[in-house]
Amino acid sequence: MYLNFIIPTILALYAGYAKKVTIPGTLLAWLFGIIIYTWGNYPAFIALATVFILTILSDKIKKTKKDGTRNIKQMISNVLTATLCIILHYITDNNVFYIMYYCVIGSSLADTLASSIGTLSRKKPINIFTMKKIETGQSGGVSLLGIFASLCGGMIVGVIYLEVDANFSNFLLISFMGLCGSIFDSILGTIFEAKYQCIVCKKQVEEKKHCNKKTKLIKGFPMIDNNMVNLLSNIFVFVICYILLY
Ligand SMILES: [Zn+2]
Repeated sequence: MYLNFIIPTILALYAGYAKKVTIPGTLLAWLFGIIIYTWGNYPAFIALATVFILTILSDKIKKTKKDGTRNIKQMISNVLTATLCIILHYITDNNVFYIMYYCVIGSSLADTLASSIGTLSRKKPINIFTMKKIETGQSGGVSLLGIFASLCGGMIVGVIYLEVDANFSNFLLISFMGLCGSIFDSILGTIFEAKYQCIVCKKQVEEKKHCNKKTKLIKGFPMIDNNMVNLLSNIFVFVICYILLY
């Protein structure tokens, strides 16, 4: 039936048409989708599609307004590591990589839900190190609601995994890795992510431009933006799972 080709194509056409993802981003996501469906089978693709759909839905509930169109950098930082797990599983036929795929995808969903549902918290998030309150929507902040949301993210992907293999300890690993990845994301965001200050409105922002003016770097490294943080936390989950599963 060539579903492994048809379904990713339908989703990619929607993502591109509805401007959820830029055209280069859509093309790469489409390629990743086909690889994941073909070599990871439909449950792996369902996990990916779930992340995609919940990401779009969570954009709608976010309090902090950001450009909703995902670009190719975001596709690479969020899906490349997971796709690599599927490719490694295909090449080596080692089941460890298949479980790792769900862990990485689970941590992506956990992070997405934490950063969207987390912003709904009435209390301001706290900086994970200083324990001081910071502005809602800034990376590196954690809230109780955000932690709960990230645990849910890992569990949703864990439930999809149970369809393939009714192994409860792997379900727990996937759920736990969702939480881990999301916390690691916050830690990296707090220490290394570049933060800028707008010279016009004085707000602390993550963008290199604000109010049509170049912003001033006040913290972190210019190389490390939110995409880099996401990629690094996916790699972190990849490495930790590999160690744990061996
Ligand atoms: Zn500004």
